[in-house]
Amino acid sequence: MSDHRLSCCITFDFDAMSSWIGSLKSNNPSTISRGQFGAVAIPRLLALLKARGIRASFAVPGHTAYAYPRLVEALVEHGHEIVHHGWVHENPADFDEAGERHVLEQGLKALQRVAGVKPRGYRSPAWDLSTRTVDLLLEYGFEYESSCMGHDFFPYYLRSGDRWSLDGPYHFGATTALIEMPVTWSLDDFPPAEFVLGMNTGLQAPSQMEENWRADFDYAHRDCAGGVFILTLHPQTIARGRYFLMLERLLDYYAQHDGVVFESMGDYVTRWKQGNPLEAWKAAHPDLTGAHAITP
Ligand SMILES: [Zn+2]
Repeated sequence: MSDHRLSCCITFDFDAMSSWIGSLKSNNPSTISRGQFGAVAIPRLLALLKARGIRASFAVPGHTAYAYPRLVEALVEHGHEIVHHGWVHENPADFDEAGERHVLEQGLKALQRVAGVKPRGYRSPAWDLSTRTVDLLLEYGFEYESSCMGHDFFPYYLRSGDRWSLDGPYHFGATTALIEMPVTWSLDDFPPAEFVLGMNTGLQAPSQMEENWRADFDYAHRDCAGGVFILTLHPQTIARGRYFLMLERLLDYYAQHDGVVFESMGDYVTRWKQGNPLEAWKAAHPDLTGAHAITP
C-alpha cells in the first residue's frame, strides 16, 4: 500500500429520471421532473470539483447517458471516472439471467456510444444485486463493484456462490478477483435528504448529515490508514442549496486533514490491487472468505 493515509472517493450517482422511472415505477411527470434537476446540478458540481481539484466517480445509467449526452461527455472531459449504473435503474434480481445480461449490455452500449468509455467499475442501481451479478461482472471484464457493505473503510474481494437457508449454516462461496468498494446507507445523501411520499421522510437538516459525515470520516482517518472513505451522493439531491453549501464545507473539512487524498474509485482500486494480491489477501482474511466456517 502507498503511504496515503486516507483516500476520499466522492462518488455521484447521476440517476436523473431513471431512478424515478426504474426503481420507483413512476408515471407521474412531476415526480420524474425531480430527476431532471440532476441535469441542472451537474454544472454546479463540476465547478465545485474543479475548484477543489477533485477527481470524482460518476455512476451513470444508460438511460441518463442518452438523455444528457453532453453532460456525460463533460464529466469525461473534466477527467472524472464513469461507472456503470444499470440501464434504467432496475433491480438486477428482478430478471432472469438473459434479462440481467441484457440490461448490463444496454448500459455498456450507452456509455460506449455517448462517452466512449468502457467502465472498470459497476455500482448497482439502489445497490441491489442478484446471486448471479458477481459472475456476470467478471465475465464482462469489470474490475470492481460498489454496492455491498461487508466492510466499512477497506475494499475486499467478493465471493461467488454463497448459499443460505433458514435451517442450515451459511455457505461461503469461492472468493473471486472482483474487488468490492464498500458503501453504506449512512454515507448516502438520498435517505436523509430526499423526501419520497410514503417511503422516505428525507428533508433532514444538513447540520445533522454534516455531523454524521464528519464523525465517520474522523474515525476512518484515525484508525483506517490506507483505507478509503466513500461518499455516495446524488446530483439531484446534494446540489440543492443548503445541501450544496454543506458539501462545500465538508470537502474543506476533509481536505484539512493530513494525508487525505481525493481520488476516483478506479485510481484507488489500481493501487489497492497491487498491494493486495488475491491469494495473499485471502490468507490474511480467513473470516472474510469463510475459511474457518463450520459445516455441521
Ligand atoms: Zn442510482
